[in-house]
Amino acid sequence: MANSGQKVVLITGCSSGIGLRIAVTLAKDEKKRYHVIATMRDLKKKDKLVEAAGDAYGKTLMLLPLDVCSDDSVKQCINNVKDRHIDILINNAGVGLLGPVESISIEEMKRVFETNFFGVVRMIKEVMPDMKKRRSGHIVVMSSVMGLQGVVFNDVYTASKFAMEGFCESMAVQLMKFNIRLSMIEPGPVHTEFETKMMEDVAKMEYPGVDADTVRYFKDVYLPSSIDIFEAMGQTPDDIAKCTKKVIE
Ligand code: NDP
Repeated sequence: MANSGQKVVLITGCSSGIGLRIAVTLAKDEKKRYHVIATMRDLKKKDKLVEAAGDAYGKTLMLLPLDVCSDDSVKQCINNVKDRHIDILINNAGVGLLGPVESISIEEMKRVFETNFFGVVRMIKEVMPDMKKRRSGHIVVMSSVMGLQGVVFNDVYTASKFAMEGFCESMAVQLMKFNIRLSMIEPGPVHTEFETKMMEDVAKMEYPGVDADTVRYFKDVYLPSSIDIFEAMGQTPDDIAKCTKKVIE
């Protein structure tokens, strides 16, 4: 349970990558300012997080199951938080999808929106009433540079992040009246499983019905330059965790 004076922080998608590092960084805060509720959809994946948290596990860090695509799971998770009191919600869970629209089914596209857009909407809807009642709170959303700029063959992922940016910008205006802050973090490339999965997707990619110039641009220009950018400027999940900590301080 949180000590008085500690802020309760709930983070989504803590089984790997950025979410895992945010959870550990906040749980190991030198002044013990945070009581971290690290969530993941499959608690069987908890080992990496528990190991990285070390002594903080069971003290400043606890675990709860949460699938942001499920209304029931979201409700159950928030009901399991004492008095449903969350000071800071960090919406980190997200999925990528790379490939030409011609080769992606509508079902696959919906899965991306269910996670990256409706997942965030579900969480905000669930925590907002309590934050409004208390007239305080901070909601952080992990967007992406792709929430600001379109990228070839990243159409659906980019659209999901743009949608979230629009939703959050509009919500921020309403929430301000209740002293609730809403912050967006827009990382460039970060070395995580997300990147590994994208590279696997590229290897399997097919280009049915896509014109030869676009395929050539993707393979010969876009891909090599993004790999260069990743190598030269790619950040670590720890960099993003430190930035997130600054945002909530
Ligand atoms: P990872 O793939 O390492 O982590 C994604 C996390 O989201 C995992 O814990 C995954 O859980 C979780 N997740 C996926 N679907 C759900 C769901 N339905 N319910 C709950 N959790 C879910 O990627 P990153 O750490 O890189 O990504 C984190 C966030 O950062 C994402 O929102 C991404 O869009 C954003 N981002 C990433 C960038 C990058 O280059 N890596 C750049 C810019 C933004 P599980 O293990 O169960 O799949």
